[in-house]
Amino acid sequence: MIDARTFVRYNNHMNFRIDPDPITKITQMGDVTLYEPAGDQPHSEKASVAAGRFQSRSLADCISHVSTPTGKKPILKTMLTTACERNCFYCPFRAGRAKIKRSTISPDDLARAFDTLARSGQVDGLFLSSGIIKGSVTTQDKIIDTIEIVRKTYHYKGYIHLKIMPGAEYDQLFRAMQIADRVSVNLEAPNQMRLDALAPKKDFDAELLRMLHMAEQIRRDHPGQKLASTVTQFVVGAVGDTDVELLSLTSGLYRQLKLARAYYSSFNPVTETPLEGVAPTDPRREFRLYQSSFLLRDYNWEVEDLPFQPDSNLPLDVDPKRAYADAHLRHNPVEVNTADRDQLMRLPNVGPKSAEALLRARRHSRITDLAQLRKLGIRAPEAAAPYLLLDGKQPPVQMSLL
Ligand code: SF4
Repeated sequence: MIDARTFVRYNNHMNFRIDPDPITKITQMGDVTLYEPAGDQPHSEKASVAAGRFQSRSLADCISHVSTPTGKKPILKTMLTTACERNCFYCPFRAGRAKIKRSTISPDDLARAFDTLARSGQVDGLFLSSGIIKGSVTTQDKIIDTIEIVRKTYHYKGYIHLKIMPGAEYDQLFRAMQIADRVSVNLEAPNQMRLDALAPKKDFDAELLRMLHMAEQIRRDHPGQKLASTVTQFVVGAVGDTDVELLSLTSGLYRQLKLARAYYSSFNPVTETPLEGVAPTDPRREFRLYQSSFLLRDYNWEVEDLPFQPDSNLPLDVDPKRAYADAHLRHNPVEVNTADRDQLMRLPNVGPKSAEALLRARRHSRITDLAQLRKLGIRAPEAAAPYLLLDGKQPPVQMSLL
């Protein structure tokens, strides 16, 4: 039996290749999950990474500052392997693409590296994805094995977000939901037709949507058990997908399958892929989709309430809530003293918390001026003034404030 140092010297002498240590491996993999948001404020995640440094070689770029249900945390975002047997048209890791250095790390090594980083305080949380090798089931097993080691051997109790491979099995999804805080089933596209143009080896219903149904079934099968929330991600704008398609599906997923969040990722062409000649998506579209999806999820809006244009997309230059208010509330303002919660949340700058504050305040006194709204936490109430009444009167607003 030789010790590790002797083994290294022996290998050096024999001119054998020595595998780098696990942290070096992760660093070499770089910011491979740059386009995969992991937390509750996906925009701030992306902004923290300098554009164009994809597959950097810095450990710092593998760590994203992510908003989690328990606060903002430095999360290690990485993959088990950047090799993949599938050929999604937009993906830098697609099979056969030569312009990428493939790296693979074992579950043991990844768990050990994560433990080292977590103990030294450099990270507090893990987002783990993977290319697919030897099928989805084998790959999913490796992802789960990694987290079992992180949880059981290294006793890590913090935030873990896992990717679910297309076509994973019920037991795998159940186990993933037991050991993680959040699982992602990425639909990529709003329907099979769009998916065919984006990722022709994926089956929308059987491999992707079924996973989200299965997650909801697991929640029903195991009531009272603490299980991970489910999220999904769409690649936006590469293949003619429309905002109506994306938001109609999102709305259904929120209501029927208890999806926690939809992520929208503006398409960016990758060289040496079939979509390299397609123009990048305007990042404002991603932002408008996020705004709209929050209206659907948190403000009880219907898809039909959103201000779609004739081309089935949202206008890029105006906040969807403001566009709604201009079209519907300017001539039919909301009486703040009598409107219900949903009506109050139609007003610009009034969200779930400020609507609650308004309802509470109304029980004690009538609301008659904008200063009261400001005191209740409504930011810049002048923005909502053209669309509301206070005790039957439209509040006076200085034009310069609008
Ligand atoms: S399965 Fe995932 S990693 Fe593989 S090519 Fe498709 S998107 Fe890329």
